[in-house]
Amino acid sequence: MTFVGTGYLGATYAVCFAELGYEVLGVDVDVARIAALSAGAVPFHEPGLDEMLRRNLAAGRLRFTTSYRETADFGDVHFICVGTPQRPGGTGADLSYVEAAVTGLARHLTRRVLIVGKSTVPVGTAEWIEQLVAKHTDPELGIEVAWSPEFLQEGFAVEDVLRPNRIVAGLRSEWADDMLHAAHLGILELAAAEGREVPVVVTDFATAELVKVAANAFLATKISFINAMAEVCEVAGGDVTQLARAIGYDPRIGNRFLQAGVGFGGGCLPKDIRAFQARAQELGAGEALRFLHEVDLINQRRRSKVLQLAAELLGCPPGPAGPRFGDARIAVLGATFKPRSDDVRDSPALAIAAALARSGADVHVYDPEGMANAVLVQPDLNFAESLDDAVRDAELVCVLTEWPQFRTADPVRLGRLAATRLVIDGRNCLDAAAWSAAGWQYRGLGGRAATPAPPGRTAGNRAAPDHDSPAGRPAIPRPATRSVAAR
Ligand code: NAD
Repeated sequence: MTFVGTGYLGATYAVCFAELGYEVLGVDVDVARIAALSAGAVPFHEPGLDEMLRRNLAAGRLRFTTSYRETADFGDVHFICVGTPQRPGGTGADLSYVEAAVTGLARHLTRRVLIVGKSTVPVGTAEWIEQLVAKHTDPELGIEVAWSPEFLQEGFAVEDVLRPNRIVAGLRSEWADDMLHAAHLGILELAAAEGREVPVVVTDFATAELVKVAANAFLATKISFINAMAEVCEVAGGDVTQLARAIGYDPRIGNRFLQAGVGFGGGCLPKDIRAFQARAQELGAGEALRFLHEVDLINQRRRSKVLQLAAELLGCPPGPAGPRFGDARIAVLGATFKPRSDDVRDSPALAIAAALARSGADVHVYDPEGMANAVLVQPDLNFAESLDDAVRDAELVCVLTEWPQFRTADPVRLGRLAATRLVIDGRNCLDAAAWSAAGWQYRGLGGRAATPAPPGRTAGNRAAPDHDSPAGRPAIPRPATRSVAAR
């Protein structure tokens, strides 16, 4: 089988499927990427992948190329794994990479094969790909298209590919079903050997395409829901981490993806919810997804909230175009959109670092894995050599990606390095009590307090809500008189 596009998705798949015993060829237009992979170097950070790549290159089951002709000769099943970024100047998906990959491959096909789309695409794309294939291949060959969306999470990608929690396939014929089944036999056999079952949902094109964007829309909504609760907690004097814990005990709600913070980012959720809305609009169902616009806005507001908190803590005046930080030295810990990845695409951490710098702050960024990518995206920021270097002389520390290295950092030691002990915990991931005990003024998102507030009082480090009642809470309306008879 072949994997067309060897980014986070395609390279991980190519390596994992070779590991399962298949003969695999990875293809990309990026010559440097193919050279790196061929030399045994994964061009991005994904735990466990490097070693597996080298093992399978050595075993001769895995090769990489930039040639579509070689790809066409090699494969019986071709997986399309190229990027589908947000269209420049719009919110829909840019399908030009998918188009180039499919036509590039199709022109060289000389036998019956299955082309399986794995990229995340707007509904209707698989049908369009069928037409493209029909245009560029001999109809006698009977080449077919299928769509099998992908759910892997960066940082856990190897595990997610080898042990997926479901396989979804949109297809049109029994032959395509058989081919796709054969292509996934390694995964199904591994599951059987481990006493697990992998649910397989075989469906039509449209449903398969929609499953992926619906899943991402749901996850984004869950994150923005708790961040909306954070906004309310901030003004009402609540603590969103306690709230999330309490509602998460309900199994219908569950506690995963219910951590308030600076919101979601990365190469998938933001662009996928926008592309989903754009496509629904084209199809005349825009109203149905209007809430996703709100989900996006809530997510963006969390980034501004960090600037607002930073200004409050540093005592910076709010200017007409936002606060000015007047050269205040700020350490930003985190550049990637989440830990265990070097991916900085639409990363909240990096966006906030850039916004702080634009507002005059002297920002020093450190990330354990994302520095090389961050420098490419934000070359004007200062990048520190280490966590200590970033924190040294800082007047404010902002923890914006929940890397274990930051979560477990010793606040006493860091307190000695910083100029001022002010910390914003943008992921609500620090031990608030330990940081406070070490002399830091701690601010979480969503009113997270360093110590839980006793009933009837607001926590010391939160602004008291503007209410009349002496306890800082609105008075409960009571009837003026009670009548026994009325009971
Ligand atoms: P990526 O940007 O890391 O990789 C895309 C690769 O495709 C690049 O290496 C690029 O050079 C290559 N490419 C572009 N045009 C090509 C062409 N014509 N022929 C061959 N190769 C070409 O992107 P990614 O993160 O791997 O995502 C790929 C797709 O998978 C997207 O649609 C994404 O939404 C989806 N997806 C990604 C993830 C994830 O966690 N990254 C998870 C699920 C789904």
